[in-house]
This record gives sequence, structure tokens and C-alpha cells, in this order.
Amino acid sequence: MTIAVLPDSPATAPQMIDPLDHLADKLFHRMGADGVYARTALYEGVVDKLAALITGHREAGTEVMRFPPVMSRAQLEKSGYLKSFPNLLGCVCGLHGTEREINAAVSRFDAGGDWTSSLSPADLVLSPAACYPVYPIAASRGQLPKGGLRFDVAADCFRREPSKHLDRLQSFRMREYVCIGTPDDVADFRERWMVRAQKIATDLGLTFRVDYASDPFFGRVGQMKAVSQKQQQLKFELLIPLRSEEQPTACMSFNYHREHFGTTWGIQDAHGEPAHTGCVAFGMDRLAVAMFHTHGTDLSAWPAKVRDVLGLQPLVAADAHVEGWR
Ligand code: AMP
Ligand code: ZN
Repeated sequence: MTIAVLPDSPATAPQMIDPLDHLADKLFHRMGADGVYARTALYEGVVDKLAALITGHREAGTEVMRFPPVMSRAQLEKSGYLKSFPNLLGCVCGLHGTEREINAAVSRFDAGGDWTSSLSPADLVLSPAACYPVYPIAASRGQLPKGGLRFDVAADCFRREPSKHLDRLQSFRMREYVCIGTPDDVADFRERWMVRAQKIATDLGLTFRVDYASDPFFGRVGQMKAVSQKQQQLKFELLIPLRSEEQPTACMSFNYHREHFGTTWGIQDAHGEPAHTGCVAFGMDRLAVAMFHTHGTDLSAWPAKVRDVLGLQPLVAADAHVEGWR
């Protein structure tokens, strides 16, 4: 983050300016909450093209599933989410009382009071990642075939990490390829995707590096988990220097969960052992922001190779000046 004194602000009150802020007006409409934005046609067009590009790299034999933005609270609890990221979870709540109780809550609100004290949790949470719901579905199919199973999943995800930065949203799109199989199946899958993902980033004209990473586990015990995750090289990230080289933005992650989900959901591999799992996650909103940050908001000025790989129409000389989505 850079600190600058805006020309029209008093020199005594410097304002924080983030390097991504200049994109906001072209890409988003504010919706009254940090990290929750309506998207413009320009932005959404690029998200669609990125999604199509990722689809184009889908491996044969991969089953497609699209998940809603909510999932079963019981399933997420069973997955161990509360042990790792309780601070990030959003839970659906409702007014579940009697008509009398619900009316009383609404009356309190009408009188300027607090209605939310009458809320109680529903059996749903907001999905914090796209792959959680796929493991119980895979488990319901019985023992894995030789070679394991592969899925293409996506969901609107929620993480309670409000921020003014355009690359840290509370509500964002995640696309994932998931592998469930033997340790070798998953290791091969992750290696293939780490190569392929770097090719995608190169084709998109993005500057990046891939590095070991850890998840933001909650609390002091969480710090130990993060150290162990790094030591075991369970997570890699594709990092793009949007803000600075020192604090790059993770736009994709390559995750190996070992037998965690296999044991949790009782998934057996073809040898009868607990299945291992891994996933490659594409942060669709971060990738789109990275594209605009790197190439600008005038699509006609994007490098021809990048336009080509995204399937943007070739420009004819006469409309090369036209700005916006084509
Ligand atoms: P993770 O499960 O944390 O590895 O997240 C997978 C991908 O989702 C990351 O590599 C990011 O691209 C994206 N992502 C995670 N958190 C956010 C966020 N707060 N805002 C936007 N994208 C995110
Ligand atoms: Zn995942």
C-alpha cells in the first residue's frame, strides 16, 4: 500500500491510496459493504472469458458440478472448518420463532431497536470454498475406481474478511479442479496442474511466481498448523505482484489435503485405503482484477496474443479506438 497526499486533501491528513483503487469505477459498483461489489459488463465479460479458458484446459473424464453459494452447516462442521478458520465463516441465520416472536422482532426494528437478537442459526452456511460439498457426494458413490475421480466445481464463496482492497473480497467466485484417489493420483494431478496453471498465467501476460504457502489458520494453534503445512509443502500459490513484490496476491492455489477428506467422509481408494484428495483453485475475481491491473481497462489496448488466448474478437483497424467490452 502506498500513502499519498491527494492534491485536494489537507497536507496534514494523508489518505491511503491502494494501487488497485483506480480500477474500481470501471469494474465495480459499490453496494454499501466492503468487499461486496456489483460487477460491470466490462469486468464480467473478462470473468466469463477466463472461465472459458479454464474450461478449455479441463482434463478428459472430469465431472462438472456447479454449487450454490450456501452449503450444509453439518457438512462443513464435519469437514473440520471450525478447527481451522472459525473467524472467516459466515452462517445463515433466520427468524425461526413463532409468528408472535417474529412480529415482536420486527416491531423492535420499527421502533428503532435491534431485531437481530431474535435471529437463530439455520442449517446452512455460506460456502467458504468451492470444493467442500464434493467430498460427501463422492463418498456416496462407494469405493473409488482405479485412477480415482476428478471434478470441475465452482461456487460463489464467502469469507468474513472485510477489506477495502479490490483483491480481498468477502464474496468472490472460486473455480476448482479436484482429484480424489491414491496419493500418487493426487500428486500427479497437482504436478500437472501446477505446470498447466503457469502456462495459463503466461498466456494471459501476467507476471507471477509460484511459492509454498500456508492457509491463514486461526489463532496460536493455527500458526503451528501453518508452519507444518509449509514444511510438508501441502499448499502452493501462484502469486501476482498487484500491490508490491513483497506482498503479492495469491490468484490460484494448489492444495494437497492428504487423507483428511478421505477419512472424514469414509472414501476408499481402489486399494481400500483412505482416499487422498487435492484441488487446484482459481480465484476468478482476483484473476480478473489482475488482468485489468496488468493490461489496463481498455480491452482494445490489450496485447493481441492475450486477446487471442481469451477469444476476444480480433480488432479491425476502424474500431480500434472503441473502448469497452467487445
Ligand atoms: P484458498 O482456498 O485460500 O487457497 O483460495 C483459493 C483462491 O481463492 C485463492 O488463490 C484466491 O485466488 C481466491 N481467494 C481467496 N480469498 C479471497 C478473497 N478474500 N477475495 C478474493 N479472492 C479470494
Ligand atoms: Zn479446494
